[in-house]
Amino acid sequence: MMKYLVILLSDQSTSFCYYNSSDNIEENKLMPLETLRNAIKYAFMEDLFIQFVLPPFSLPKEYEDIITSTKASIIAPSSTSYKADVMVVDGFLELNNIEILKDVSYVLRTSKKDFFEHYEEITRRIVELSRLNIVLTDIEDFKEDDFILYKQILDEFACCVKDITLSGETIQLNILTDRLVENEMNNCNAGCKTITLAPDGQFYICPAFYYAKEQPVGNLENGLMIKNSHLYKLEYAPLCRECDAYQCKRCVYLNKRLTREVNTPSKEQCVVSHIERNASSFLLLSIREHIIFMPKTEIKEISYLDPFDNIKNK
Ligand code: SF4
Ligand code: SF4
Repeated sequence: MMKYLVILLSDQSTSFCYYNSSDNIEENKLMPLETLRNAIKYAFMEDLFIQFVLPPFSLPKEYEDIITSTKASIIAPSSTSYKADVMVVDGFLELNNIEILKDVSYVLRTSKKDFFEHYEEITRRIVELSRLNIVLTDIEDFKEDDFILYKQILDEFACCVKDITLSGETIQLNILTDRLVENEMNNCNAGCKTITLAPDGQFYICPAFYYAKEQPVGNLENGLMIKNSHLYKLEYAPLCRECDAYQCKRCVYLNKRLTREVNTPSKEQCVVSHIERNASSFLLLSIREHIIFMPKTEIKEISYLDPFDNIKNK
């Protein structure tokens, strides 16, 4: 059963994930007011929690009035003055220039190259942040050397987070601390628990499917019509349902692009997620050398980084 409705208010609504919202934009289309009102009604009738995704420009007053009077969370680019629940930062240059607000979650979208070159900026600013989600926008380009470097950087992050934790502070860094607090899969769930409404009034599996010009999966008038909807569920993803990299996004958009099957992950996504999982384990054990910490949490040692290798060897 769907739980969330992501509403893209404009074709230029900020990307908060792996896709680029600026690709394939022919015109800057704002969702018509009538569609927006109907979308809110739809969410109310279907008992869906709304997430508004804002563009990098001010919205007309009628839109602002509707947004502020609706119970919803707001995702906005950090370049706007809007105080959102989630602020999206595009790259390290932007990260260096923003004033960090308390009680706001930040998403940092970065290429692997920029991440490898500037990751120390994160260790420098991490104490200011309540929560940081790092999204590597070109995960599909990771090669063997990148995996090695990613592991080294995460181990450095783990040492930094350990020191912060031992000083009595807490921080949330998705690629390191999410796995500590999850005891079951907590993935993106696009097409399964979350659906997106685009400015054209049609539903898409997630914003990435809209910008990639994939077929819509229904509309406000006729409701959702997702072909083979079961394939988006964890139970129908044979590798993922056996996996314990619970923090992994299990991105069905990347799956479709890289393996052509929404329920089959790529090696790159799996290895990156397992490096994160193992770094979380390293963090847990490092903290436990000093204090009693999350005694019920266990992250087992494993000998593989790609679950596909594990299945092959069984
Ligand atoms: S790491 Fe791979 S197998 Fe595990 S949940 Fe992520 S995509 Fe699925
Ligand atoms: S399927 Fe989920 S994780 Fe993948 S791009 Fe869409 S919203 Fe992001």
